[in-house]
Amino acid sequence: MSRLAWIFPLLGLLSLPLLAEVVQHAPIQVGNADNRIALQAGASAPRLLWLVHDGDSAWQGVVADTLIGHARIGDADIPLHWRFDRDASRSRGDSASLVYEDRAAGLRLYWEWRAPARHGPLEHVIRIENLGGKEIWIPLQDSFRYAWKIPATQPLQQLWIDKGAGEPPPVGTHLVSIADGHDWHATSSTFAHPRPGEAREIIPWLLVRGADPKTGGWYVGVEFSGRVAMTLKRRGATLEGSVGLNPEPGPFSTRLLPGETFATPTVFVGADDGDIDDTGNMLHRWVRQVLNDPGTLRNPDYPLVTVNSWGSAMAISEAQARRMIDDAQRLGFEMFHLDAGWFRAVGDWHPDPKKFPHGLAALSDYAHRHGLKFGLWADWAQAGTSPGKGALNVADPKVRDWLTTDPPPGWKPAGFKGITIDLGVPAAQAWATGETNRIVHDYHVDMLEHDGYVVAQGCDRSDHPHAAIDPARTHRYSDDDFLWVDSSNSTDVSLHATRAYYAIQDALKRHHPGLLLEICNDGGRMVDFGSAAHGDYFSIVDSYDPLSNRQAFYDASHVLPPAMLETYVKAWPTPRIENFRYMLRSGMMGWFTLMIDTNSWTPRQHAVAAREIAFYKSTLRPLIRAADLYHVGPRPDGKGWDGTEYFDAGRDQGVLYAFHGSAATPGAFRFKLRGLRSGHRYRLHFRDHSSPDSVLDGGDLMRSGLSVSLPTTNSSELVAIEGLP
Ligand SMILES: [Zn+2]
Repeated sequence: MSRLAWIFPLLGLLSLPLLAEVVQHAPIQVGNADNRIALQAGASAPRLLWLVHDGDSAWQGVVADTLIGHARIGDADIPLHWRFDRDASRSRGDSASLVYEDRAAGLRLYWEWRAPARHGPLEHVIRIENLGGKEIWIPLQDSFRYAWKIPATQPLQQLWIDKGAGEPPPVGTHLVSIADGHDWHATSSTFAHPRPGEAREIIPWLLVRGADPKTGGWYVGVEFSGRVAMTLKRRGATLEGSVGLNPEPGPFSTRLLPGETFATPTVFVGADDGDIDDTGNMLHRWVRQVLNDPGTLRNPDYPLVTVNSWGSAMAISEAQARRMIDDAQRLGFEMFHLDAGWFRAVGDWHPDPKKFPHGLAALSDYAHRHGLKFGLWADWAQAGTSPGKGALNVADPKVRDWLTTDPPPGWKPAGFKGITIDLGVPAAQAWATGETNRIVHDYHVDMLEHDGYVVAQGCDRSDHPHAAIDPARTHRYSDDDFLWVDSSNSTDVSLHATRAYYAIQDALKRHHPGLLLEICNDGGRMVDFGSAAHGDYFSIVDSYDPLSNRQAFYDASHVLPPAMLETYVKAWPTPRIENFRYMLRSGMMGWFTLMIDTNSWTPRQHAVAAREIAFYKSTLRPLIRAADLYHVGPRPDGKGWDGTEYFDAGRDQGVLYAFHGSAATPGAFRFKLRGLRSGHRYRLHFRDHSSPDSVLDGGDLMRSGLSVSLPTTNSSELVAIEGLP
């Protein structure tokens, strides 16, 4: 890649600065309207001098970056001596590339920062290029190491967010004080499978803020789905840590062939002086602008109202799917999503002729004739034992070479889970690119969901592009019906497989404009900023009751755009119609997927659901797409009250979702609204008429709150908020 690749024009966004000469030790500034950093090209390493938000709350860096100190060429482990290359380095106001070289080793390192948008965080990556003619093995280069000088007594807090995974974690949204000695460590990977008693995987991002709101804060996130780790420590007057590929179990080593470049996972960094929801809303806008597919955002139906077949699990058939489509049309759904159960066998992604005698294209066409898009589940990186033509069969020697591990004798796949192929193997990537393309093309697919353990994060093959295992440090086990191999090479396996997975997703998008991609991964296990750039929405949790859905949404909506946050709504006891609305609305704060055969509903439930879906499309969806989101209630516990507010200042409109759990008392709650204007009047319309409509001042609504009364347990209300001229 050219060293100028990052220096792309932001014409019209910033007054265009000219390429500037980079002088050793002289500060270089890079920034946008929100954030500015100063960098310094030291003789042997670069340094981040400071990070500033909007002219205040500076974070001062106290150490130079740590660049890798050795490399292996052949049998020799050689120390590296990086020297600043002034002629190769570049900077302008919105980007900088500081170049270091070790001529003897034939390695060149680019330390790069850029502002991808006028607002929001700055991005940082380190690239290491093999200029020579020999294979070189390099150790782990962190994406970002930081050490800020802080007042030793300054009260600080840290915020981080867990992934939803199989079921929502007990805490989910962590806000803790950072005392002296604070020593925090967290990880994320392509498939979170938490073990009892261990910390959950996080959405790879953290925020540090002053306990006193005036102090301001800063945050860092990782745009990568593979195995990454983050640390944060407080030692006296220093706040320090690292962000990047996970060094454990280690020692990490990755191969650079002649001419190849290793790139650290891109991180984004920014400072902020708002509260937690202000930061979240800024991040939502930034993710939409910088990471999301602009074609998806232009689709006015995004996020689509979806009905999914998993309520019937593997028993789904063509006849039932058609009945679901018929009813979905009457109810106002926009997509029929065929989940697992349609294929011949794991790895054999062709329709089961007994259950789908007319094939999938006919079913998709049927959905299209009923005005619905057609979504399809596939676990396309899983191999099984089917002898069918075109199947990924572990007995096929070619396929066997791609597996992350050999199957044990007599191995059989589970109902929809097999053995993962390592997409980091070029031939496996090529197969998956062709197979996903075939599925989308042949079955007339508008949305492709990938499920299960798609992206390898451990592999015991020695002839793949990644490093080999260390047999003494290898742990093999089975979990969730998948076979796992954890070893010293796991992070390198995950690095190659994740890059290949992104290329497969991107190729699908290129070949099928308008195609939507759902990231499921057994639900909630791959929710991160890397997949946000290579897919359109996430399943955020793999349990589907109202509380799980609201908890997972509460957590993830702190950092990721709500339109991307999909919750599946399953059948749940609804003796009263209030409980039924509560069940639906608990999944209607982001992307709404219903996992129920609606033919089971009563006429009254049909009428209520049709009305709720119409309101979602007309009123809720435009807010979910673009409005600011405020966590105006506590994290849901299923017993008391919780609530979420959207408010779009541009349209002067918003909504409050209010939920009352299983505890009979109290029957009322005050939500302190956000984002309104004092001295401005707002009309409040209670959709279920739990209170009469009223007009109140914005200042009062924010200070004293809006009272909602719901005597029925497990019930809800939607309050439309409209500014009056
Ligand atoms: Zn492998």
